[in-house]
Amino acid sequence: MNIFKKIFFVDFIKGLSLTFKYNVSKSFTLRYPDEEKWIPYQRFRGLHTLNRDAQGRELCVACELCAKACPTQCITVIPMEDDRGIGIADRIAKVYKIDLVRCMFCGLCEDACPTTAVRMGRDYELACFTLECGVADKQKLLAPQEIPVEFEGGYVVKARLERNKEGIKIKPDLSKRKRWW
Ligand code: SF4
Ligand code: SF4
Repeated sequence: MNIFKKIFFVDFIKGLSLTFKYNVSKSFTLRYPDEEKWIPYQRFRGLHTLNRDAQGRELCVACELCAKACPTQCITVIPMEDDRGIGIADRIAKVYKIDLVRCMFCGLCEDACPTTAVRMGRDYELACFTLECGVADKQKLLAPQEIPVEFEGGYVVKARLERNKEGIKIKPDLSKRKRWW
């Protein structure tokens, strides 16, 4: 059988046919970022979110377990007492920040959190030009993300231009979507 394969270049022909198949198959080109955006699956680990309960109270009780579990020690939590009802307990985070430059998006902080306050989100456009802007503070982490948690992933959506105080941003238009494959 091996001699037969060698004489008739069977493996060579198999390889060539595979290459040829890809030459004539439909190509997948994503016109990112100006025209199209990729919506990752729900299990994707992008920028973290700090969450609230149904009454809008902060779920973070500043226990620092996420900071302890973080292998790169990129989470800073400074707790404070607050009885104004901002959080679910009288202890909230005065400072909560994540250094995204050091973060490896492993998700261990999410696993360690006893109140489901910190979750890995799906925002992935995190590039910036300074080390300072790579630090996500509490305000940024509490802000709603562009892709809602319940929105199913695995889609390509249209991009739309949006002007705001910081300039022009290209945002995903979740109403127009198509499957990636
Ligand atoms: S994802 Fe991993 S590295 Fe990033 S903050 Fe959480 S535990 Fe730390
Ligand atoms: S995010 Fe969770 S684990 Fe981290 S300090 Fe807040 S409650 Fe504790």
